[in-house]
Amino acid sequence: MSIAEPERLEARRAIIGDGFEIRRAIPHRHRRMVGAWCFLDHAGPVDYAPGQGLNIGPHPHIGLQTFTWMIEGEVTHRDSLGYEQLIQPGQVNLMTAGRGISHSEESPADRAGRFHSTQLWIALPDAERHREPDFHHYPELPIIDRGGFRITVLAGDCAGERSPACIYTPLVGLDLATSGSAHARLPVDPAFEHAALTLEGAPALNGERLEPGTLLYLAAGRDSLELDSPAPSRMLLIGGEPFSEEILVWWNFVARTPQEMEIATRDWIEGRRFGKVIGARGAPLIAPDPTNIARSA
Ligand code: MN
Repeated sequence: MSIAEPERLEARRAIIGDGFEIRRAIPHRHRRMVGAWCFLDHAGPVDYAPGQGLNIGPHPHIGLQTFTWMIEGEVTHRDSLGYEQLIQPGQVNLMTAGRGISHSEESPADRAGRFHSTQLWIALPDAERHREPDFHHYPELPIIDRGGFRITVLAGDCAGERSPACIYTPLVGLDLATSGSAHARLPVDPAFEHAALTLEGAPALNGERLEPGTLLYLAAGRDSLELDSPAPSRMLLIGGEPFSEEILVWWNFVARTPQEMEIATRDWIEGRRFGKVIGARGAPLIAPDPTNIARSA
């Protein structure tokens, strides 16, 4: 069986909240999804002055899960279900939007800090995308030591260890960290496609050296991946069964039709469906004009 060549995809710069610059790896015009993972933002590492941290006011989501993996720093999540949760390094916040939820995310106010984080979205399959919203905080995740890599199992399973994160399609998410020279062969599900994004340093995956800002995509059909790092590094690896449903991703929504997007936008503007976030520092986000969804999605 022939295996497709890896694809290198450049992340693009984007601004979130009130001026916080991040690198957005997916969706990419050549690669919309990896399994059900449909969005990947890498923020930092960055040192910020008091008041200059992350500040994303209340905004709505539908049809997806937001998956936050905190590397350095702290962020407070608040949502319309009443959850208020500080996330710290080594922890995951997983919010299931289902039919609709709103939330805010902000750095602790009035002090300087350091911030390094990833936020991913997972598209919910059709049978689950209208479910009631939910929120989970995972303070601890399984860790495996292999060939000098410290592997945190963020989602799915790896080498017999399973993440507690509640997901609805076959997926994997791993953080691969090393404090020195390391080499490991990682067994993976051949039904999964994978993608890797370097968070720090310049490790190699299947011989492809990867610096921050480039996503390396590997099609399904591999039963193991080769990891190499000559020096301290950190990489995020995501994977999953190729998602079989056509989705639209627009603003903070994942849906199937422009009409669904328009209705969700109107519900947000008119104060329906998405509840209220209490205690957020930032103002509620203003929805873009949904008139051109069909063209932009
Ligand atoms: Mn959000």
